[in-house]
Amino acid sequence: MGPFDTIVVGGGNAGCAAAIASARHGARTLLIERYGFLGGTATAAMVGPWMTFHSGESRIVGGIAQEIVERLTAMGGSPGHRRDSSDYVATITPFDPELHKTLLVEMMAEAGVTLLLHAWFLAAICEGERIRGVRVATIGGELEFFGTTTVDATADALVAHSAGAATNRGDERGRVQPASLMLRIGPVDGEALAAYLRAHPDQVRSSLPVAELRPENLSAIAGLWDLWNLARERGDVTIPRDIVSLFASPYPDEMTVNMSRVLDVDPLDAFDLTRAEVEGRRQALELIRFFNNYVPGFERARILASGAQVGIRESRRIVGRYTLTRDDVISARRFPDAVARSAYPIDIHDPSGRGTTTHRVAPGGAYEIPFRCLVPERKEGLLVAGRCISTTHEALASARLTPTVMTLGQAAGTAAAIAKNGARTVGDLDIFALRAALQNDGVDLGDRKE
Ligand SMILES: Cc1cc2nc3c(=O)[nH]c(=O)nc-3n(C[C@H](O)[C@H](O)[C@H](O)COP(=O)(O)OP(=O)(O)OC[C@H]3O[C@@H](n4cnc5c(N)ncnc54)[C@H](O)[C@@H]3O)c2cc1C
Repeated sequence: MGPFDTIVVGGGNAGCAAAIASARHGARTLLIERYGFLGGTATAAMVGPWMTFHSGESRIVGGIAQEIVERLTAMGGSPGHRRDSSDYVATITPFDPELHKTLLVEMMAEAGVTLLLHAWFLAAICEGERIRGVRVATIGGELEFFGTTTVDATADALVAHSAGAATNRGDERGRVQPASLMLRIGPVDGEALAAYLRAHPDQVRSSLPVAELRPENLSAIAGLWDLWNLARERGDVTIPRDIVSLFASPYPDEMTVNMSRVLDVDPLDAFDLTRAEVEGRRQALELIRFFNNYVPGFERARILASGAQVGIRESRRIVGRYTLTRDDVISARRFPDAVARSAYPIDIHDPSGRGTTTHRVAPGGAYEIPFRCLVPERKEGLLVAGRCISTTHEALASARLTPTVMTLGQAAGTAAAIAKNGARTVGDLDIFALRAALQNDGVDLGDRKE
């Protein structure tokens, strides 16, 4: 089959946005995914809610990301953007991972993407420094596909690494943020929880007045320190985490728990990933018992669903033509070749400990991500989108968030489509044409005049 104009490897949110954008711009597009469904970390690991589409009162993420939220809302799978009651970011966006899986396959069909599920990327097919295609493993044997541009959206930079591109991982010691097994639990009595918080307002991080601590306002709950520490003192919890962290789901009697923490995992080693899965399951049981026995409103809750895999916050990333830094993020830096914006803080879960460090973007601001972060050094015909773009460990702790990876995917897919007939390789395309196409398709690139 093929050849294709664009081959996207990895059907997470970045890869899906890339495939949709590429096909909508008329490129023959193949999307390759190892699982039997799309959505990646958002569905396979059930990670949510999405954060954040806003900086202060302004929405700074549009395009395919916003379209997905609107379509999920119409399907009953999201309440849309809600003010973050935990006072961490401006808004959070709960979603139903099951409806998200359905929506994504619908969008592939509408856009005319050739979809190949159950196909495991094995190796890049290269000619010198140019990537010509990919080899994948399927139940029927190995297959090869050829295309003008390959988009690596595997989150682990698998294609780039296989092609010999320079890569990095983790902090200066190579340590990555911890892994977490996500849970959806219910039924939850939201009024009983809210009543506890109104009676103990020092037990929740919130900008809401006490009287407004009501179920309909509690989109995110960070706190419950006394209950958590009591359980720890009694030996009922051992998880290396210093705070209870819960999020509203689209449904009033169900909440998402982001609290498990498996330290010092090597996400590129299958034995270590296995250790993370086993420890994540042990922690899931510890968590549901904690909620049942300690937290008002959770007495009858059970685990409704857990991630099919542990969530990986960080692994390998490319060395691109530009590397986004901590200073770029917190100074809300702008770039002439920007293709995405974000206001999410640098949010580093300690790779080896209990705490979390936050560095905020300048108030009311948003930083930008240049196209050069998607282009691996010295390789042709290859772009990277999503968690494995070129950043430092600190900058990735902001840029890895879902609305951002969706926008990066849209940029990569649009770039691949623009490059399909061009004389130049995708990394050298006309950046003004790319930015104009993105803005035309609803991506928010700020108010700079072209
Ligand atoms: C515990 C945790 C909590 C988080 N909390 C939040 C949050 O609250 N809000 C938020 O917005 N973001 C959050 N994030 C970040 C966010 O979820 C991810 O960074 C983002 O979803 C990554 O998207 P991606 O498309 O780059 O990668 P992924 O979604 O991981 O997609 C990669 C895809 O590639 C596929 N793939 C990998 N290898 C192969 C192969 N060999 N062959 C074929 N396919 C392959 C995978 O199956 C997957 O579908 C969190 C992440 C974690 C882990």
